[in-house]
Amino acid sequence: MGFDVHVVGGGPSGSISAISALRNNFNVVVSEEHERSGFPVRCSGLISKNGLDYLSKYVDYKKHIINFLRGAIVYVGKEQLIFDAKETNAYVVDRASFDQELMWNAEIEGAKLEFSKRITNKFQARNIIAADGPLSTIASNLGFPSIKKYAVTLQAFVKRNARKDFVEVFISSKNYPGLFGWYIPHNEEYGEVGVGTLLPNNPSLAFRHLMKRLKIVNYPTPTGALIPLRLRKKTAVNGKRNVLLVGDAAGQVKSSTGGGVVMGGRCAEIAGRFADNPEMYEREWKGKYMADFLMHKSIQSFISLNPDVVLEKTAILFRKLGGISLLEGAREMDMPTRILPSLLTAKRMFK
Ligand SMILES: Cc1cc2nc3c(=O)[nH]c(=O)nc-3n(C[C@H](O)[C@H](O)[C@H](O)COP(=O)(O)OP(=O)(O)OC[C@H]3O[C@@H](n4cnc5c(N)ncnc54)[C@H](O)[C@@H]3O)c2cc1C
Repeated sequence: MGFDVHVVGGGPSGSISAISALRNNFNVVVSEEHERSGFPVRCSGLISKNGLDYLSKYVDYKKHIINFLRGAIVYVGKEQLIFDAKETNAYVVDRASFDQELMWNAEIEGAKLEFSKRITNKFQARNIIAADGPLSTIASNLGFPSIKKYAVTLQAFVKRNARKDFVEVFISSKNYPGLFGWYIPHNEEYGEVGVGTLLPNNPSLAFRHLMKRLKIVNYPTPTGALIPLRLRKKTAVNGKRNVLLVGDAAGQVKSSTGGGVVMGGRCAEIAGRFADNPEMYEREWKGKYMADFLMHKSIQSFISLNPDVVLEKTAILFRKLGGISLLEGAREMDMPTRILPSLLTAKRMFK
């Protein structure tokens, strides 16, 4: 067969797992179905500073920064929560060039890259890392359990005057059921508007609602995409061939935000290390990150299952309990378990 590891998919999870496997002395081939990686772009590119710092061993992310963010304005029904870290705590990155650099870095470190090559069930190695995105063909063809919940998103790049260093998030189980709406500025004049709703809710209604709310009249036809909101029950099998699912293919996404680059990347790093040992891969990523994925899932379920009036009351309580300053001080936005100790301390203060 010639290779130790066949990585399917040249998104960030595929490239990071390839680089990690190469650094663990595996011989790697990466197949990407498009003629280049990073296109079409299906991501807002908002990534935490901490997360990107972690991934800087794979990519020089600073080359891809479009905008610097220091906070968020979160609208919950009629309530408004403002989080201001007072320094950059997240970036908007150009996902196309970010993905491309990651794939080139895999090549520089020794991977063979194949473009315009869609893989379905013919592999070039005994160890397969399937990083083929939210609708993973490899996972379906090889009989992995399905992902139980997806958000369907619509987003468009628009002209709007707004602060360039704050992302805006619109939470309402009535108007944006299942996830939320967002505005991510690229500068003072332009940014991306998007909505995510849990299937089978219709995102078009949610999108029109948000455009009306933001008083945006002229906008291009929005593009659609899917975000997995649940993990697959199984993400690795061993046998005649070892198969490891990573990133969106495994559902390794923060379901409270829909962000998948950092957590997918962290899991991809582990997949590269244990490319020939599926059991260790599954044990390791679950041991390290399962609690965080579950906390994100609880937040997403809470937002999607409760009416706006309950969400508003929760926002008021959250503010009273000092939640805003706690989150403003938290540098680790991807892993809520790292914020938990401060939350518990705060709870004691209010006893
Ligand atoms: C609207 C939207 C906004 C988002 N915003 C953010 C955000 O702001 N921050 C964030 O962190 N995350 C965000 N995400 C999520 C993020 O885009 C994904 O979690 C991330 O791209 C997952 O990376 P991946 O490598 O696992 O999969 P993908 O990026 O989907 O890459 C999969 C790759 O595999 C290739 N492929 C698929 N099938 C095959 C096949 N059979 N053979 C060969 N190649 C194949 C595809 O062409 C693709 O290049 C957003 C998602 C959406 C939809």
